[in-house]
Amino acid sequence: MAVTRTFSIIKPDATRRNITGAVTKMLEDAGLRVVASKRIHMSREQAEGFYAVHKERPFFGELVDFMISGPVVVQVLEGEDAMQRNRDIMGATNPKDAAPGTIRKELAESIEANTVHGSDSDENAAIEIAYFFKPEEIVG
Ligand code: UDP
Repeated sequence: MAVTRTFSIIKPDATRRNITGAVTKMLEDAGLRVVASKRIHMSREQAEGFYAVHKERPFFGELVDFMISGPVVVQVLEGEDAMQRNRDIMGATNPKDAAPGTIRKELAESIEANTVHGSDSDENAAIEIAYFFKPEEIVG
């Protein structure tokens, strides 16, 4: 299987609870390597742009408010089939539905404050990585 990259965000519920290390350990234990990472506080414009695909969904406004409610950690993850590997360790969107051992089951608070974002396709991973990182910021 090919080594690929995906994009992850450790969300404000996790920075607030100071569990970014615990989240990162679960990613690393799942076979993913952090090849870029930075802690940022997104602007409203940045969050709206990032989530533009969701702008017609009823939860869009609240999601943007949540994502700018505190700092986040944006990361590029590398590994074999990184996008799917990351989706697997993240678990289902709603922590109530997430499988035991996944980040959202073990650490998330609610369907909105669900600790992590992960790209849902290789194509989106490339777009999302480029939204936050310059090529020279990624060190594999
Ligand atoms: N979300 C929400 N309410 C919902 C569905 C989603 O607040 O009913 C939020 C949640 O934080 C989720 C994000 O919107 O992570 C993006 O939703 P998506 O369906 O893409 O889920 P994901 O890919 O993050 O599992």
